[in-house]
Amino acid sequence: MPVITLPDGSKRTYDKPVTAAQVAADIGAGLAKAAVGAKVDGELRDLSAALEKDCALAIVTPKKREGGADADALFLIRHSTAHVMAEAIQRLFPHVKLVYGPPLETGFYYDISFEGGKAISADDFAAIEAEMARIVAENRPFTRYEMPAAKGMDKLKAEGSKFKLDNAERACEAGSTTLSWYATGEPGKAWEDLCRGPHVPSTAKIGAFKVMSLASSYWKGDETLDRLTRVYGTAFATKDELAAHLTQLDEAKKRDHRVLGKQLRLFHIDEMVGQGLILWTPNGSIVRQELQNFISDELRKQGYTQVFTPHIGKLDLYRTSGHFPYYRESQYPPVIEHEQMAALAKEGCSCGELANRLEKGEIDGYLLKPMNCPHHIRIFASSPHSYRDMPVRLCEFGTVYRWEQSGEIGGMTRVRGFTQDDAHLFCREDQVAQELLGCLSLVKLIFGTLGMNEYRVRVGLRDPDSAKYVGDPANWDKAEEACRVAAKTLGVPFSEEPGEAAFYGPKIDFVVKDVIGRSWQLGTVQVDYNLPERFDLSYIGTDNQPHRPVMIHRAPFGSMERFIGCLIEHFAGAFPLWLAPEQVRVMPISEKSADYARELHAALVAKGLRATLDESNDRIQGKIKQAADMKVPYCAVVGPRDAEGRKVSVRAFGIDANLGEMGFDAFVEGLAQEYRTRGQSAVRATFGR
Ligand SMILES: [Zn+2]
Ligand SMILES: [Zn+2]
Repeated sequence: MPVITLPDGSKRTYDKPVTAAQVAADIGAGLAKAAVGAKVDGELRDLSAALEKDCALAIVTPKKREGGADADALFLIRHSTAHVMAEAIQRLFPHVKLVYGPPLETGFYYDISFEGGKAISADDFAAIEAEMARIVAENRPFTRYEMPAAKGMDKLKAEGSKFKLDNAERACEAGSTTLSWYATGEPGKAWEDLCRGPHVPSTAKIGAFKVMSLASSYWKGDETLDRLTRVYGTAFATKDELAAHLTQLDEAKKRDHRVLGKQLRLFHIDEMVGQGLILWTPNGSIVRQELQNFISDELRKQGYTQVFTPHIGKLDLYRTSGHFPYYRESQYPPVIEHEQMAALAKEGCSCGELANRLEKGEIDGYLLKPMNCPHHIRIFASSPHSYRDMPVRLCEFGTVYRWEQSGEIGGMTRVRGFTQDDAHLFCREDQVAQELLGCLSLVKLIFGTLGMNEYRVRVGLRDPDSAKYVGDPANWDKAEEACRVAAKTLGVPFSEEPGEAAFYGPKIDFVVKDVIGRSWQLGTVQVDYNLPERFDLSYIGTDNQPHRPVMIHRAPFGSMERFIGCLIEHFAGAFPLWLAPEQVRVMPISEKSADYARELHAALVAKGLRATLDESNDRIQGKIKQAADMKVPYCAVVGPRDAEGRKVSVRAFGIDANLGEMGFDAFVEGLAQEYRTRGQSAVRATFGR
């Protein structure tokens, strides 16, 4: 007699097992029609799953009540579409072997081996989509059937796909006693795939789909194993949602920071210098410097002190901090002194031996720093501290080096050297909460100034069932509560994520949404009980005894590279005045107004503005277009009549028409004010824009 509790708290009692689909039908025909799956006690299931015991049930439909697509529904639709795509591909390329096809945040993929036959190309997408459309139109049910593990294994062996067999073996190792298949239609007759599910009830529930792209991949991500083709696709409940998604992708392409970075000459990556190493060209350097100045000003107000530290440190430093040899894979190899190298060579030391002895600490050397923390810790430790000096807040735009696999490198988001907006706060236990609030208020201010008003925070807490965490549990409780409270004060959505804390302390991560709705994971604020212990840090308390400080690591924007990469896309390269490499371009209409243009240009430069003068013989429309190509925020067009009346014809980037005329002094002063206040536009306000 299962009692089914619905999301509104109401209960329905049945005298025998019932399917979620039946319950949906009992609630209403509309719901039954819209349903694509069920959530049973929080677990996503097929609509056809039998409910035998009392449970909480929510019927999954593509539309959320508050509007927007339901993530569970998309998950089901996309996973189901992956099956449909795989069937279509197998029909067109009978030689292929399927590997693995999961849903993703924006779609799905299927890893497929095309070995021993015709390869796939983007030219095949239309044919695949046509085949998929046919399967969708046939409205075939996704039908689940199960077998005991041993029998299922025999079936897979007979079918002869090592990939599916491996998937099944791993499922069994993880504790499955049965294996399940989903047939797209009648089992035994229709196409099927080894799959845990769940799925939408039938192919007709797939509203709109598209095969997107191809990439190469390897079985289990291992380059020594089979080479696979990853076929990406996406699917939505409706055609409109798919169209909106494709528009967003298009918009993202236009905003691609790698493309804009080149066009606006913001940064350069040079093969001769090295992959993943950003060269900040003059334009990009201006953006970075302005942002650093802004952040530094705020840090000063918050009582931080600036430090500078070298780019390398001794291996022993990182042995103490624990960064070496444990994170060896993600670091540049150590640097060893000349004499030592020569001596080792004389001994006939092999590379393997060298690595071994480095690890054991028998040879010292240097490491390009993977983190700034150890250097800042040694600064803290270099002088005695009393409880009165605490907290000590050391900040540095510190450059660190990490070894990213070459395949992962692209633009400013995955790099091998980057500058963190880093700081380390050394504080007393009772100061942690206050310091966290300070960190978050800075983030709020900076996001606000940049017009990035949609962001959320994730609070990483410890896993209550794990014993891996260092530090006193009572302190952890306090620090976790402090993170929670600090996150709440931001007034933005936040989620608590148990198990996401580092072993050394809880943390707060920032995820910002850009104007086209994409999420960027930026930086973090972390509480740390571990490093003060490892470095034996102390301050003298009111009791005249040494006490262990708590450390907070914070780099809320992550790295300047990543953050500015994100800003380029957020602004589509059209930076606000204070960040723009070139803020205003003065252009005389003809030789007759050249003197007046020079006077205006000089006045703007004298105010500290990044003004340029276009004295070329091009026609004025051409000059305006060139400035627009470089996304210069303002153009000041001056002709003889402007000169006579000491006026300026003002154009702003992105606004088609002239803004209108302004007096010489008012324009210069207005721009200077807009620069100083970082964004509140005095000039546009004059024109009511
Ligand atoms: Zn599946
Ligand atoms: Zn740190």
